[in-house]
Amino acid sequence: MPFCPECSSAFKEGTAECPECKVALVTKLVEGETDDFVEVFRAQSLMEAESIESALKENGIETFLRNTGIPAMPMMGEEGAIVIEVRADQAAEAKDIITELEETPPPEIDENAGGDGKKS
Ligand SMILES: [Zn+2]
Repeated sequence: MPFCPECSSAFKEGTAECPECKVALVTKLVEGETDDFVEVFRAQSLMEAESIESALKENGIETFLRNTGIPAMPMMGEEGAIVIEVRADQAAEAKDIITELEETPPPEIDENAGGDGKKS
């Protein structure tokens, strides 16, 4: 059923134009035409953000990185948080993928290796 994009009135099939607004009717109302991005993750480093981003892209999820960094604090050794945003309709899928990544332990942590046991 055609709608008027201006006044949202519904019209009979075959109607081409709203008699009130003089605009062409559309078959469905398009809401939120701008891509609606939502935050799904906040990474502490660009490396972390990029690894998540690439994982999401492999799954066909469009990502957008937004750096919330605080450049005034370089001595903290942080680049600020990097927010990963995805389209709202892909947010749930993206969160699943990120959760899986988070549950996968990092490949190389050698905290116990290399200890020489000496006390100085
Ligand atoms: Zn109208």
